[in-house]
Amino acid sequence: MKTLRSYVSGEWYVATEGYVPLVNPSTEEEIARVSAAGLDVAAALDHARTEGGPALRAMTFAERGAMLKNVMKALRQHRDELLDLSLENTGTTRPDGSFDVDGATGTLYFYSGLGQSLGDRKLLPEGEGMQLGKSEGFWGHHTLVPRRGVAVAINAFNFPAWGLFEKAACAWLAGMPMLAKPATATAVVAERAAEIVIQGGLVPEGAFQLICGGPGELLDLLGPLDVLAFTGSADTAAKLRDRDNLRTLNTRVNVEADSLNAAVLAPDVASQTGPAYDLFLKDVAREIRQKTGQKCTAVRRIFLPEEAIDKVQRDLVAQLEEVVTGNPEDDSVTMGPLATKQQLEDCERGVEEMLKQGVRVVYGPGQRRDGKGAPEGKGYFFPPTLLRADDPDAAQIVHTREIFGPVATLMPYDGRAEQAGKLVAQGGGTLVTSVYSNSPSWLHVLADVAGSWTGRIYVGSDGSSEVALGSGIAMPASLHGGPGRAGGGEELGGLVGVKRYMQRVALQGDRELVEGLAGVD
Ligand code: NAP
Repeated sequence: MKTLRSYVSGEWYVATEGYVPLVNPSTEEEIARVSAAGLDVAAALDHARTEGGPALRAMTFAERGAMLKNVMKALRQHRDELLDLSLENTGTTRPDGSFDVDGATGTLYFYSGLGQSLGDRKLLPEGEGMQLGKSEGFWGHHTLVPRRGVAVAINAFNFPAWGLFEKAACAWLAGMPMLAKPATATAVVAERAAEIVIQGGLVPEGAFQLICGGPGELLDLLGPLDVLAFTGSADTAAKLRDRDNLRTLNTRVNVEADSLNAAVLAPDVASQTGPAYDLFLKDVAREIRQKTGQKCTAVRRIFLPEEAIDKVQRDLVAQLEEVVTGNPEDDSVTMGPLATKQQLEDCERGVEEMLKQGVRVVYGPGQRRDGKGAPEGKGYFFPPTLLRADDPDAAQIVHTREIFGPVATLMPYDGRAEQAGKLVAQGGGTLVTSVYSNSPSWLHVLADVAGSWTGRIYVGSDGSSEVALGSGIAMPASLHGGPGRAGGGEELGGLVGVKRYMQRVALQGDRELVEGLAGVD
């Protein structure tokens, strides 16, 4: 059994007590143990501030971009090993694991290119300057400088590789050192990925530290120039945010939390078969199955015109019937188990709660089953489950309870974009809303009503059907994050995500001096 280590203050740290066992979710066999008991988090923060930060700030954007490319290449070289670990530690099939691992390298690749395009500069001037006084002797320009603190990343269990490196890519490109705490349950993948980078000497010492296990008093020690980037449940986010130091020192906190994402089928696509309808079915079925529904961007609520709901239900069930749930070591398996016992229990509880509030199961067991290729009675298997709520206003639980598994709920609406938009909004803020329509006027109304309730609108149409990549992918060029319940954070989106780790400074004075200070070419 492997003992996971942390990397802090230039050394690998192994705890002597407090271990938590990690298991293979398909077999429940112990595969590793984790503890960070006794780790000196204050020293780790100091190491990042005094070693990693200065080293990164001495580099230009182009140099940091080249660094990201080297990290990307090293992880790519170990792709198969990381996919094997992902299968064993998180229960994903290899294609589902690649969504995490290739997501990490793809994001690093994107940001390496962005770094190259920003060139040999260390500051990031914004927009055009402006004359503020009677002459150019009093001029104004905004610029962004790296924050002289530590970027602390707390990640969720479902993306141990992507979650780590999508944050690291932005922080490093901005010039901030990263101290990452992966979710304990899936830390095997994160630890190995970090080891590849650290042992390869691919980032300056102090720029990358890793805590596997409980973070102790880490968050209590954060100050005004640090950044806390959290991904996880809304409940944990609320607890972490509510710290005196974070509030009184105004530490920057970025939260990516949970989300009751919606897919909306418009009447023009529902009324006929065609490319957009096929795309809708393919996307929604994939969102239920992929990573066993353990994606923050997965579709949870499906809104359908009343007259189409029965037909769509039949068509979706036909897609879900093809899913083979089991141990991903078996090549015929297309969906693995949930990642942990807690996730399994929470999914079962979530379905029970829904059933008590007038929601019914129209496909799937809504509870654990044995999985193909797994020992009888073992493994956290939960086959795809489709629920239906015929009165979406009455069944409020559908808009408030995240079931983090392969479960989604069908609901009717009257076909008007305005009503669909209002139902989307009942989720209280989502990461993504996918809408399937070829009608610009219908889409405009929906975007008007629901636009400010969601971080991303994915439009599925005949035109996009051949090339659209699916609503569940957080792409580095597009914003990831959403308002309200989704956390209110902003990640990725090209420079948007980088700027979370930089401080905007308004410079004022003589134009020549100001433009020099701002880094204007
Ligand atoms: P979680 O239970 O909220 O945990 C998230 C992270 O917070 C883990 O690393 C956890 O560490 C850590 N944590 C918990 N309590 C802490 C404390 N007191 N101090 C410091 N760290 C603490 O979430 P999860 O179960 O891992 O992930 C599932 C949730 O994440 C779902 O709700 C999903 O929607 C959401 N999610 C959102 C996004 C997004 O981008 N918006 C992406 C992925 C997942 P331990 O593991 O050690 O407890």
